[in-house]
Amino acid sequence: MTLNKAVADIRARQRIKPSAPDRPSAVWTGVDLLGGQEIKTLTIIFKTSGCWWGKAGGCTMCGYVYDSAIDPPSPEDLETQLDRALYKAGDMDEFMLKIFTSGSFFDEREIPPQVRQNILRRLADDERIPKVIAETRPEFVTDEVMDECTGILGSTKFEIAVGLETSSDIIRKDSINKGFTFADFTRASETAKKHGVTTKAYLMLKPPFLSEGEAMDDIIQSVDDAAPYADTISINLCNVQKGTFVESLWQKGQYRSPWLWSIVEIIKKAKPAHPDTVIMSDPVAAGSKRGPHNCKQCSYDVADAIRKFSITQDISVLDELTCECMELWKKVLELDDLTYGSAIMD
Ligand code: SF4
Ligand SMILES: [Zn+2]
Repeated sequence: MTLNKAVADIRARQRIKPSAPDRPSAVWTGVDLLGGQEIKTLTIIFKTSGCWWGKAGGCTMCGYVYDSAIDPPSPEDLETQLDRALYKAGDMDEFMLKIFTSGSFFDEREIPPQVRQNILRRLADDERIPKVIAETRPEFVTDEVMDECTGILGSTKFEIAVGLETSSDIIRKDSINKGFTFADFTRASETAKKHGVTTKAYLMLKPPFLSEGEAMDDIIQSVDDAAPYADTISINLCNVQKGTFVESLWQKGQYRSPWLWSIVEIIKKAKPAHPDTVIMSDPVAAGSKRGPHNCKQCSYDVADAIRKFSITQDISVLDELTCECMELWKKVLELDDLTYGSAIMD
């Protein structure tokens, strides 16, 4: 059985819940960096017909496909979703707007070109928004689309965000089933750059079938490889999402999300090696069994320190971190290669 077939079989057993087509899947506020300064953010996940790749099987860790709509939202629905999201910006004076679709903003099956143009026009006219980031798979980044976006956005900065996950084509294919190559990513980044558009690369720490040590080595190597093509590198820590291939491994005791000590170590090595690249990580679900975790005593403090580093880019905020479980993590690094993928600790 191919990995894609295994993922598709799991997807076929899930039900997508009916939901209002004119409401975004999610909207939240946060903080990020712009030109070295902290800035507020508004993130919107548009509810669309969903990621074409995810619907065909797709990535082993991705549960976002279940956020999509059963029936494709109309153009009016999509624009109402934006209205509802901007309402949440309330009285914020300035914020960066991040657009996700649980797929690709530039896939015209998800967001028709006319709607895309209307959305960008609205954002360009909003003086509170100095920068827009839109997530997409690389195959949708073309000269035509970049030209259109920058033409509409004018002086508003624009960035594409791509879920590269790893620079290894083997891991991306056999562990994540991502369906594109590193060369596809570099082509997208170079196309964007020609139009003055920056690139953010998302990496994924510890996809299935990798030991803790292999996963760390993969990300350190991936930061080296992606840095020439990415202004910002954001390292996601794999968490166990519902209805995914990763969840099926986890339920059988064959997968554990990464240790937070691993990302601390990665940052300590990667940041000094790439001082001009913004390196970030937001440990989603940190401290929970499905999320990245150390022991109960230190997980939340370590996750907070990682978030603090992301906003300051100052690795000294990680210096004071310590806990008895560090010894256990070091033991895992020693032994994890010998367990044929089964987790040593839950
Ligand atoms: S991770 Fe991205 S590309 Fe992969 S299935 Fe999910 S939405 Fe699609
Ligand atoms: Zn601990």
